[in-house]
Amino acid sequence: MGEKEMISLPVKVRRILRTLRDHGFEAFVVGGCVRDSILGRQPSDWDIATSASPQQVRALFPHTVDTGIAHGTVTVMMDREGFEVTTYRIDGKYSDGRHPDSVEFTPDLAEDLGRRDFTINAMAYSEEDGLIDLFGGREDLDRGLVRCVGSASMRFGEDALRMLRAVRFCAQMGFSLDAEAGEAIRAQASDLKKVSAERIRAELEKLLVSPHPEMLRMAWETGITAVVLPEFDRMMDQVQNGSHHIFSVGEHTLQTMRSIRPDRLLRFVMLFHDMGKPVRAVRTPDGIYHFRGHAADSAVIARQITDRLRFDRATADRCVRLVSVHSLYPEATPEGVRRGAAQTGPDIFGLFLEVKRADIMGQNPAVQGPKLKWLAKVEKIWQEILERGDCLQVRDLAVGGKDLIDDGMPPGPGMGVLLEQLLDEVLADPEKNRRELLLARSRQLRGADSTE
Ligand code: ATP
Ligand code: MG
Repeated sequence: MGEKEMISLPVKVRRILRTLRDHGFEAFVVGGCVRDSILGRQPSDWDIATSASPQQVRALFPHTVDTGIAHGTVTVMMDREGFEVTTYRIDGKYSDGRHPDSVEFTPDLAEDLGRRDFTINAMAYSEEDGLIDLFGGREDLDRGLVRCVGSASMRFGEDALRMLRAVRFCAQMGFSLDAEAGEAIRAQASDLKKVSAERIRAELEKLLVSPHPEMLRMAWETGITAVVLPEFDRMMDQVQNGSHHIFSVGEHTLQTMRSIRPDRLLRFVMLFHDMGKPVRAVRTPDGIYHFRGHAADSAVIARQITDRLRFDRATADRCVRLVSVHSLYPEATPEGVRRGAAQTGPDIFGLFLEVKRADIMGQNPAVQGPKLKWLAKVEKIWQEILERGDCLQVRDLAVGGKDLIDDGMPPGPGMGVLLEQLLDEVLADPEKNRRELLLARSRQLRGADSTE
C-alpha cells in the first residue's frame, strides 16, 4: 500500500481520456473496470465518467451514439468498439426500477462516486491522478467485502435491486457481505417485490453463472429468495434422509449447480430440477422420503418461474424440457441410449447427460460410483451413435409421410401412428432404416400386403 496503484488502460480508452482532458474536462475510468483491474480480472467493459456534458462529449468525437442521453450517457465509437462516456451525475429515485427517474449532472466526481452502490464499485482511476478511492473500496477489495457506500438501509431503500446485486457480487468474487448490509437486507428484502422481473432475472443469472452459484444460499439466509424465489426456500426446508442423499433438497441443488459448467441454461436447469420434490414428498415409516414422479412437478414449477421472470421463449422451453426428463435412466446399451435420446429429443440429449452428471455429483458420495460408471458407458455409446448418425426421430426415418401417400396410404392420423411404430423398430435396430424395408414394413403394418 502507499505506492500509486497502476492500472493498464486499453489504448482506445487512453485516447478518449486524453481527448477529454486536452479540452479541459475531467475524465476517469470508473466502476466495474477499476474493481476488476485491481483484482487482476479482465473487465467486461470500460466505463468512463467525465465532467463534460453529453453535448460536449458528442462534439469532441466524430462517431458517437446517443445511448442514454437523458441519463448522461454517450457511447463513443472507436473503430468498431463502443465506450460509454457518462457525465458526472447524481441519481433520483429508481421507481421504474431500471433507470433513475431523474438525474442531475454535477461538476463533482465525488458526488458521482457517492451515488454508486458498493465501495468496490465506487472507485475511479486515471493515469494522471491514480486511484480515487473515497469510500475505502481498495481496502474492501483486500478484505473481500461487499459494503454499501454510506448507510446500507438508505441505499437499499433507494433501489431494492441493490440487495440482490450485493449477493451477486459476493458470488462473482467469492466475497462476504458486510454485516450492516446483511442486516439491512434481512429487514428490507420484501422491497424486492417492487423491482421488475427483468432486473431480477439479470442479477440472478449473473449470480448463477458466477464461480460461486452456491452463494445463492446467502440470498436465502438474508430473506431475498423468500421474496423473489420462494420455491427455493421450500427446497431448503425439505429433508431427504434417503440412502442417495445426505443433504436437504436445497443443499443438493446448490451442490449440483456447482458441479455443472457455468452456462446459464444449465445452471437454471439445476436450480429447478428438484423443485417438485417438496410437493411430492412421501415419508415412509422408516423415516425415508420418496419423491416418485417429481420431475413432472418440477417442470410445472420451472415453467411458472420462467414465465414470472420473463425468460425468452427458447431458453424457457429448453429449460422446462430438460427439467422434465432429468430423472430418466436410459439403459447403457445402444438401443437403450437411442431410446433415451428419442425420449428427451436428440437435440438436448448431450445437455441431459451433463445434467445427469451434475445431479449425481450432488448425491451421497457413497452411491456415486456405480452411477458414474453407468454414465460413462452411456456417454461413450452416445458418441458412437452420433458418429454413426443413427436415426433417433421420425424426421430422420428413411421414409416420410409423402412416401407413404405415394405408396397408397390414405393421409390421416394413422400416418403419425405408423411412423412412430417404424421409428420404434428402427430404434431397436438401425439397420432397418432403409427405404425399401420401411415401405414393405409399412404395408405389412397397415394390412395392405395381403395380396402378396
Ligand atoms: P459487471 O461486470 O457485471 O458489468 P459492473 O460493476 O460494471 O459489473 P454494472 O451493473 O455494469 O456493474 O454497473 C456499472 C457501475 O454502475 C457499477 O460498478 C456501479 O458503480 C454503478 N451501478 C450500477 N447499478 C447500480 C445501482 N443499481 N445502484 C447504484 N450504482 C449502480
Ligand atoms: Mg458493467
